Amino acid sequence: MSPAENTMLPLRPLRGLFVTGSGTDVGKTVATAALLRALLLANVRVQAIKPVQTGVAPAEARTAPLADARVYAEAVAGLPQAASMQPPTALRCFTLPASPHLAAAREGAHLTCAGLRNDIEARWQSGAADMLLLEGAGGLRVPLNKREDMLDLMAAVGLPVLLVGGNYLGGLNHILLSLDALRHNGLQVAGIVLAPPVDPAAGCPGVDVQAMLADNAAMLRERMQQQGITAPLVELPRLARLDAAGWQTLAERLTPLVGHVLPKCGDCEAEIVRRDHQVIWHPYASAMQPPLLSAVARTRGNRIVLADGRELVDGMSSWWAAVHGYNHPRLMEALHAQAGRMPHVMFGGLTHEPAVALAEKLLQLMPDGLERVFFADSGSVAVEVALKMALQYQQGRGETRRTRFLTPRGGYHGDTFGAMSVCDPVTGMHSLFTAMLPRQIFMERPGCRFDQPFDPASLDDARRNFAEHGAEIAAVILEPVVQGAGGMWFYHPQYLRGLAQLCRDAGALLIFDEIATGFGRTGKMFAAEWAGLSPDILCCGKALTGGVLTLAATACSGEVAQGICGGGNVFMHGPTFMANALACAVACASLELLEEEGWRQRVALLEEGLSKGLARCAGLTGVADVRVLGGIGVVETREPVNAQALQRYFVEHGVWIRPFNRLVYLMPPYISPAEDVERLCSVTAGALSAGVHVQ
Ligand SMILES: *Cc1c(COP(=O)(O)O)cnc(C)c1O
Repeated sequence: MSPAENTMLPLRPLRGLFVTGSGTDVGKTVATAALLRALLLANVRVQAIKPVQTGVAPAEARTAPLADARVYAEAVAGLPQAASMQPPTALRCFTLPASPHLAAAREGAHLTCAGLRNDIEARWQSGAADMLLLEGAGGLRVPLNKREDMLDLMAAVGLPVLLVGGNYLGGLNHILLSLDALRHNGLQVAGIVLAPPVDPAAGCPGVDVQAMLADNAAMLRERMQQQGITAPLVELPRLARLDAAGWQTLAERLTPLVGHVLPKCGDCEAEIVRRDHQVIWHPYASAMQPPLLSAVARTRGNRIVLADGRELVDGMSSWWAAVHGYNHPRLMEALHAQAGRMPHVMFGGLTHEPAVALAEKLLQLMPDGLERVFFADSGSVAVEVALKMALQYQQGRGETRRTRFLTPRGGYHGDTFGAMSVCDPVTGMHSLFTAMLPRQIFMERPGCRFDQPFDPASLDDARRNFAEHGAEIAAVILEPVVQGAGGMWFYHPQYLRGLAQLCRDAGALLIFDEIATGFGRTGKMFAAEWAGLSPDILCCGKALTGGVLTLAATACSGEVAQGICGGGNVFMHGPTFMANALACAVACASLELLEEEGWRQRVALLEEGLSKGLARCAGLTGVADVRVLGGIGVVETREPVNAQALQRYFVEHGVWIRPFNRLVYLMPPYISPAEDVERLCSVTAGALSAGVHVQ
């Protein structure tokens, strides 16, 4: 591939404002038009766009005009700046004056957020405006299709939102509900405009309308303050006639908004990174030579949106976790619903439905024979729990000499002390602490590749270690089939079967650390299935909550549980945030989603895409190996890569991939579209063929 193929023009980050109403006919178009005038008066080059326009006359619909353009044109008439304004447009026009989903269906069309967003982006990139003024259709929950609403489009676009509310009796309810919805979707409120409807007292004859409407504004200001919304509330007056003077009056009223809708630097990318560098420590990083960082503002699907608006295709699933991509509506719903009921409660002496349901689901998915679940708050803690379970089990059956663990080199099990003691002693990132760590027993890493015939000799070193230390070994701990952070190494499942037999013969337990491999990533729900095995203890984490919250679990067999708790003993562990209800509820939803969204087919597609896409790396200079298993694609280089140069290159090319040591690896969310997987692969190949890794 030539480097040119891989070059992309740097895209301008989207800037602008989304105007929505608290309902239909609340005065949104008039407010938008008046704001257009206010922005032109402030010399902002703005383009008005209506993503969807319904109720357009058939003759006009063909030329895709904007019916509201007439109102916009009246509002800006006479302004010299109007000459330079990009003509307002509607992206999709339908004749039926109804909700977009209905109007589109009537004409055999189907609207999607992704499609509309792409069109908005295309307008922005091809135009010369400083900002877009997007006017929605109706209120927030106006459907675009069976699954998506206007609000989803706003979230997909991610721009600040100006809410136009009707100042009528009962209007407050709609405005406050709209504010809730905006906040729950992480949208910034750029301001609220209270517009006078035609008949503010409809349905309530004989009341002092003026006093009640004044209270609407006062109440809203109070609520905005409580919610930390610093943007202004503007009341538009009722005008007898919307002539030139009228538009000017409205525009002047809206002037306080102009400062709030223009992009500010408070949260711009460079500024966040600068502040970070003063106060924060990053994973495996120096505080003195601050690491290369990008500031993230939002995420959605398989995209990471930086604070400057640039959008990256995610190739990491946030370290194995975000298998459904980001902000999946089902996970967000589970989170919000549980937050409304109970975010957390201590787990000593109390229990709750989300924890029980999650344990039941997990045991159903895990290999047969696992019967009890212990919830921990991170993967490392789940590993500590597994090690303690094994030690207590051996103590319980009087095997007090069994205090050590046997583990292959090249493993990674976390960063706490027990977990560190079983990580690779050299490359395991923890060599500094060797003096303080319990001495474990290390054997050769499983040498036989996943994709080659099994070599029984790969078990020789395990056999030798059992012969030598068998009586001291409490358990063997290892990552089944895929060694993750220790080298992204895929080995033959038959090795695990041999090892399991050696454990049984020696009276040692077998612990599988499936924190990285669990939940489908290797093409099986748990990697143990490749070997048809059930370990005595299994740890999972990372993808357990679909990447939303921190949660991990250690499951053990009935025999291990009985061994620990025989004679009235208890298991000595209990984190403060054990079985956090929010995390459990989201995890339940995530496990349901895996099934519903067909993880098996999706991971198979990922495997196909990664295999095809990364094959071109095999011949490149400095590349030692290319391998793919399930949703994991690895390019291993001969020398450690310049991770910083690669990270910069990847961000500049619109992808998020974070290499380490001699590994450039991809593990995209399961929901990644094929073209995005191809993009990840082609940018990887582009970087390696351009030699960015050896800079
Ligand atoms: C990430 C990982 C851990 C540690 O999990 P944390 O949640 O980061 O503590 C342990 N084991 C394996 C295999 C992992 O990949």
